[in-house]
Amino acid sequence: MEKILFLAHTDTNGNLPKLALETLSAALQVQKGLAGSTLTVGLVGENVQAAADSVTACGAAKILSVRGADFGVSRYATDVKAIEALGAASGATVILAPATSRFARALPGAAFRLKAAIDTHISGIQITDGALQAQRWYYRQRMMATLTRAARPWILAVDSGVFPVWQGAKGSAKVEAVTVALTEKEKRTKVTGIEAPSADAQTIRPDAALLFVAGAGWTKKQMDGQTHVKEAEKLILDFLKSSKASLGSSKSLVDQGSEGEAVLPFMSHLNQVGQTGSTPRHPKGLAACCHGEEPHVVGWRFINERRAINTDANCGWAQGKADVLYVADAFTVMAKVNELLAKN
Ligand SMILES: Cc1cc2nc3c(=O)[nH]c(=O)nc-3n(C[C@H](O)[C@H](O)[C@H](O)COP(=O)(O)OP(=O)(O)OC[C@H]3O[C@@H](n4cnc5c(N)ncnc54)[C@H](O)[C@@H]3O)c2cc1C
Repeated sequence: MEKILFLAHTDTNGNLPKLALETLSAALQVQKGLAGSTLTVGLVGENVQAAADSVTACGAAKILSVRGADFGVSRYATDVKAIEALGAASGATVILAPATSRFARALPGAAFRLKAAIDTHISGIQITDGALQAQRWYYRQRMMATLTRAARPWILAVDSGVFPVWQGAKGSAKVEAVTVALTEKEKRTKVTGIEAPSADAQTIRPDAALLFVAGAGWTKKQMDGQTHVKEAEKLILDFLKSSKASLGSSKSLVDQGSEGEAVLPFMSHLNQVGQTGSTPRHPKGLAACCHGEEPHVVGWRFINERRAINTDANCGWAQGKADVLYVADAFTVMAKVNELLAKN
């Protein structure tokens, strides 16, 4: 019988982040799969009542919290103590927590203090013969491992986009406070503000329905023997604006800046998808002017429906890597797509 703890922190508005609600679905899956196990909710935040009310219908035996102004911000020293206290107060044997940037930093330290085992980047959970098994990918998402552990407590940091967002009616929750004593030294890190780019400048959008990948072809000489970088820039930005897609890139395109070639100014290495880049999760992907070579396409592991536009009918996408390949000039296709989007 496992004692399951679902851990979460509030966001700046006092609500639970989307990833926390996905992790709650995972915790409920574990609870339902392991007969006789119990579920406790553990919340960290300045004021946790709204968050507790939003998940009170999940069927947890109790809701614990470490709350107060000191726990409203992301700070390693106080977050570790809060997680440690909730882990101890709940007597949890299995702890599921969202791998938000805040918790991803603090969970390993809390695991050490709780003498717990921890696995990160959890991308699946299953119960086999009454045993909890967790899945994660290794070697740049090329190998998937299914693992189980005898060690308890066992902490699982769950990745985003894996489980459905838990939905349930709001209620009025009874929340038990767990007290944590802090020293001045533990509070010496102060969060003085958050600097974030404006919504339009932010081209990486993990929650977008579509990933749009631009390749080096956008900056190469075209049929008229000329490059058309300014035109490419406008076509891509117009498309991102109307589609709200997330922008990915091939390595060749983002490398051009450091090689002194003409580049798209809104592209950085953070946009790079692939073996030495990121492995984003989106329901659909569209690549334009990108060859579809293996070190790039390995980053498309979690893109379900794939399409590409390339003038070359023998490009990598045609070798079974895309569901649909449009053999066409991406400048013409995207101009037409933008025109159609503008009408809607
Ligand atoms: C160890 C290692 C790690 C790597 N990691 C990564 C990685 O993480 N991510 C990554 O992307 N790459 C990675 N690479 C590089 C990868 O192998 C490719 O070199 C890179 O992806 C090529 O980028 P590209 O397709 O944009 O450019 P190119 O190969 O130059 O392809 C440009 C394409 O644009 C097409 N095109 C040109 N004009 C048009 C037009 N008007 N309309 C339509 N199509 C047009 C061309 O036909 C061509 O297919 C790695 C390589 C190695 C060795």
